Amino acid sequence: MLILKLDEIPDEGLNLKWTEERASLLAYLEKLSKIDFEFETPLESDVKIRKAGQSILIKGKVKTVLRFQCVRCLKEFSHPFSSNFELTLHPLREDSFKDEVELSEKDMETSFFESGEIHLSEIACEQIFLEIPFKPLCHEACKGLCPNCGKDLNISSCDCPREEFESRFSSLQKLKFD
Ligand SMILES: [Zn+2]
Ligand SMILES: [Zn+2]
Repeated sequence: MLILKLDEIPDEGLNLKWTEERASLLAYLEKLSKIDFEFETPLESDVKIRKAGQSILIKGKVKTVLRFQCVRCLKEFSHPFSSNFELTLHPLREDSFKDEVELSEKDMETSFFESGEIHLSEIACEQIFLEIPFKPLCHEACKGLCPNCGKDLNISSCDCPREEFESRFSSLQKLKFD
């Protein structure tokens, strides 16, 4: 994972292009306990970094392909992601911590760096994490699996009578109330 030291940034700024390999990305996901997706390809980043007083401005783009499991049919699928972003990083100091946390809640484009180190790969990963859907679907109209026989309804329909489920359910309900 790429870490840049503050004093490695020249006054005229820095252009950086790097690729984070899958192995280190997967180790990072494990560390974060993010287990509902994985990286299928390396993460490519291309950013421009410059100092602005005490702060750092980062502007650039990230690109990768992630692998998910569909929440409806449980099939695995890949999804390409790319994102352009602009971020301001402020130095984290204990005496100003409270003020800056309040600032970050108002402004989502604000983040922090500590001990003069900028964790570039982590920042790049976060830009991808922001794009990830809460409930990944292989397809917007995925029909999912039949709750009775487990057949993938995207491939073919099954003969399970749906009415029967409903009447069974309502007779159960009746029993409960009797
Ligand atoms: Zn699906
Ligand atoms: Zn069925």
